[in-house]
Amino acid sequence: MVTSKEIMELTSTYGANNYHPLPVVIAEAEGVWVKDPEGNKYMDMLSAYSAVNQGHRHPKIIQALKDQADKVTLTSRAFHNELLGPWTERVAKLTNKDKVLPMNTGVEAVETAIKAARRWAYEKKDVDDNQAEIIAAKGNFHGRTMNAISLSDDPSATTNYGPFVPCIYKINYGDIQALKETITPNTAGIIIEPIQGEAGILLPPEGYLQEVRKICDEENILFIADEVQTGFARTGKMFACEWENVEPDIYVMGKALGGGVMPISAIAANKDIMDVFTPGSHGSTFGGNPLACAVSMAALDVIEEEGLIDKSLELGEYFAIELSAINHPDLKEVRSKGLFIGVEFNKPVRPICEALKKSGILCKETHETTIRFAPPLIITKEELDWALDKIRQVLQVN
Ligand code: PLP
Repeated sequence: MVTSKEIMELTSTYGANNYHPLPVVIAEAEGVWVKDPEGNKYMDMLSAYSAVNQGHRHPKIIQALKDQADKVTLTSRAFHNELLGPWTERVAKLTNKDKVLPMNTGVEAVETAIKAARRWAYEKKDVDDNQAEIIAAKGNFHGRTMNAISLSDDPSATTNYGPFVPCIYKINYGDIQALKETITPNTAGIIIEPIQGEAGILLPPEGYLQEVRKICDEENILFIADEVQTGFARTGKMFACEWENVEPDIYVMGKALGGGVMPISAIAANKDIMDVFTPGSHGSTFGGNPLACAVSMAALDVIEEEGLIDKSLELGEYFAIELSAINHPDLKEVRSKGLFIGVEFNKPVRPICEALKKSGILCKETHETTIRFAPPLIITKEELDWALDKIRQVLQVN
């Protein structure tokens, strides 16, 4: 048998060094549990950054994958496929929007939203050529392409990648006054995460999303909500914008839309925005492929049929209360919405994550001082209690 150690060595010898994973190899997975090649079992408390909300290899999703794999997997958009129509209808109805544009990864959906906003500014708002501006929030994470890192203010994401995309303005997350002051007649849109995930589960001040909505309406600019990580029941709502009863102009979706089985992402928007795309103006070879559409429909079924929104809400509240009750000198704050939980410490938390790994829990630091707990939403209360016992034990000595 090839050991975990050998696999990790091989990966670091031939693979680019662009990640710093915990030293564990996942060879098998089911539900909330994963196993390494030696047979050690761990609870997954990260869910592939919320892509596995439905749990690993959910039987319904895997069945949909197998059934569709026996029919047709890829047509490209040069031809129609049977599933793109039903899938776009499903996602359009889910988001209460007229139209949906499929891509593959989260960042491609972000790119698509920015492109849509710019075209919309030129074609519907009469902004002069090449002048359209985008506003972003500091601390954001929208992915790794040039557009996405141009939105970022994180040096680890941006250093030595310039020149960056111009006409992007960054304001403090949660700062309404700064938003008002940054808008110009050339502003096309503002892109924000309704809760900043990679920043450490940062919740905006109450009322912020509603204020953003109001200003976007008054100023005729687009509200782009990046729900790639917060969407699909993660925060105890289908979309985190619902926490403030807000409908953005463009939803950006990814991750759990594919149930942790196929990459599929999308934007959803009304016709006045989506119609800026014309044949040849945007696309993707794999975007909207029938295999991903079949998987995605099953992934959405699972969220609905298994009541994952309510589960996330109830279990998230319970888990956050229990975590807050832990008495630890360096535990600064627990921030949460549903099973999207950040525990911030006054010190670097990597050693805690490594100790948790040794005790059978996989989770990861985000930035240096916050541990993110985001287990698959199919987790049970008994499993959460098991995790809480381990977390308490680890924190007693770390
Ligand atoms: N947007 C947000 C809010 C994310 O959290 C992420 C990934 O973590 C992305 C975009 C990028 O998604 P992907 O890694 O699938 O490109």
